[in-house]
Order: sequence, then C-alpha cells, then structure tokens
Amino acid sequence: KKKIAVMTSGGDAPGMNPAVRAVVRAGIYYGCDVFAVYEGYTGLVEGGDLLKKMGWEDVRSYLSEGGTNIGTARCKEFRQREGRLTAAYNMVINGIDALIVCGGDGSLTGADLFRSEWPSLIEELVSSGKLTTKEVEPYKNLTIVGLVGSIDNDMSSTDATIGAFSSLERISEMVDYIDATAKSHSRAFVVEVMGRHCGWLGLMSGLSTGADFIFIPERPPKAGKWQDDLKKVCSRHRNKGKRKTTVIVAEGAIDDELNPITSEDVKKVLVDLGLDTRITTLGHVQRGGTAVAYDRMLATLQGVEAVRAVLETTPDTPSPMIGILENKIVRQPLVEAVKLTKSVADAIESKNFNKAMNLRDSSFEE
Ligand code: ADP
Repeated sequence: KKKIAVMTSGGDAPGMNPAVRAVVRAGIYYGCDVFAVYEGYTGLVEGGDLLKKMGWEDVRSYLSEGGTNIGTARCKEFRQREGRLTAAYNMVINGIDALIVCGGDGSLTGADLFRSEWPSLIEELVSSGKLTTKEVEPYKNLTIVGLVGSIDNDMSSTDATIGAFSSLERISEMVDYIDATAKSHSRAFVVEVMGRHCGWLGLMSGLSTGADFIFIPERPPKAGKWQDDLKKVCSRHRNKGKRKTTVIVAEGAIDDELNPITSEDVKKVLVDLGLDTRITTLGHVQRGGTAVAYDRMLATLQGVEAVRAVLETTPDTPSPMIGILENKIVRQPLVEAVKLTKSVADAIESKNFNKAMNLRDSSFEE
C-alpha cells in the first residue's frame, strides 16, 4: 500500500485546506494511506506527533476554511543537509516515500533538492547504522509532487496559483470600502498590496477597481519622471469630476533605476497636488478568509491530479508540478517552472523589463 504525505509550507494561502482535503480523499479513494505533515518541513524533521495518518472525516469542512489547518512554517533545519537526513529517517520509519508539497517556489525548490539527494541520504542512514539495508530496501526512491499555493500568483508555467484569486477578491473588496469613504471626503488613497516581486495582485486589483494609477515591479516607470505622470493622470481624472483618487502600489514596486517606490513616495506626490491623502497598507487581511470558489475548484482538481501523478511518476521522470494552463490541469516539470520563475527576478534585476513581462504568464502581455 502506497503511503503518501501531504504538507503545506511557506506563506499560507486560502485554498491550502481544500488542497489537503483533495489529496487526503483522492489518496484514500485510490487505495493509499495518506499522512498529513504538520508545520511544513518542521513536521518532517521532528516527526512524531507532527506526522498524522488522515482519515476521510479528518478533512471534513476543510473546503470552506481559510488558512491551513495542518499549519505551515519556515524551517531553517530543512535548508541544511543534516535536517533533510533526519527528515528522510522519519519518512522511512513511517513507511512514507511520496510527498505532495503545497507551497511557493522556496518550498518546491526544497522538495526537489530533497528528492535529488534522497538516494545518498538513504545510503548515509545505512552506513551510520541508523537503519538496516533491509529496512531501506522498499524506499530507494522518493516521489515529489508540487502544488503551488501562493497568494502572489508568482509561479511560471501555471496561469493561477492556489490562493491568488481569493486574495485578489479580498483586495478588491477592501478597495471598494476605501472608495466609499474616499468619495465622501473627496480624498486620495494610496493602497499598498502584497505580491513580493510579482505585480499580479497590484495589476489585477487596480483593473478590478478602476484605480487611477498602478505601480508594479514588472513595468517600472521612469525614475524622476513618474511623479509628473502621476500628477497629470490624477488631475485629469479629477477635472472630469471624479471625487476620489486611488493609487495601488505593489509591495515590490520600483522605478526603472530599480529604486523602490513606496506608498510614502506616492503620498508625497499626491499631497503636492493638493489632495488630502491617506495610506492604507492592507497587510494580512489579504491572506485571510475563506477561499473563493475558483481556488476551491483549482485546489480540488489539482489535489486529485497530484495523487494521480504520485501513482504514475517513475524514478526516471522529473518531479512534476501541477499547474493550470488554458483551463486544463497539467503536469509541468517542477525544476523548469522554478527556474523560469527565478529568471523573471533576474530579468528585473538586470533592468530587462520587457523580458520580465514576457516571462510572466500571458495575462501580462501587452
Ligand atoms: P515559499 O515556499 O512560500 O516560497 P520559503 O521560501 O520561505 O517560502 O520556503 C519555505 C520553506 O521551504 C523554508 O523555510 C525551507 O524550510 C524550505 N526551503 C526553501 N528553500 C529551500 C532550499 N533551497 N533548500 C531547502 N529547503 C528550502
């Protein structure tokens, strides 16, 4: 009987619970034992109570719950080989040789590294006398499958990450709330949104709420010049009778000289324009709450596909990452996806902004 472990790791995202539910139930449906690893990689390193066999009923009501019930963490030990050796030991003594990780690019990079090291970790467990050759015999290979859980929608090779549409929905709601008060007082608001190095949340929330101006890392405005452009656009809208001004600033926003553009920088310009201006940093409400229907659907379809991928992946096939492209659930080579994701950051750092834009998913293209 195949034993599969599922974990959530890195930043939490709405939809992680539905993903765990789908893996647990699809696993049971396909005749596997499914374990939940609590607290991300910490659960693998510490083992014991943090590895728990899951029954069908254990994930009841997970579909409509935000956050991740099995916990997530940033685990320093797993970054060291020593930590991964202990993790391998804990997996073998529990009979687990397949791992489905729902997390961001960091978590998935760690997972693939773990897989590539696995044979040498097993060898070391035998040579150091912790396990016998007979004990490790059935666990020669580790199967890894990645599910992308991230509010930022920052992974290449997939159109949507689990959690991004929930976060977008939350941001749009919050901007609507702010608009009501802005309009009443004829104020300007600078709204800072999450996304790390990715402007998807900023761009799409600006689009969804009719913001006056948007700052995102992939399309940096000209250093020293954007202030005038911002003033021009906002004045034009005001002159047309608009009683509110909304500017969305993605947390990774920069100008074309790579200087950060902060909410404070933007506020100064709007104040200079004579507008009564407030900053709202949305913060962690963007991660909170229950997943929107799209993320529940995505997590469920992808969770089922992840279990199928575990059952079909051979030691010779590269670790798959489950994505969605043009509305089809697909398996992508995990390492390639992570590499492509990193190349976007590299392109921005080397000021190759058009390349960065093209490397992002198709929704960014002009
Ligand atoms: P995210 O998965 O959201 O990108 P992080 O980058 O913080 O978040 O990664 C989450 C965890 O994954 C880390 O705390 C660490 O345990 C593990 N991890 C990340 N990168 C690596 C790596 N290069 N090698 C081993 N483990 C890693």
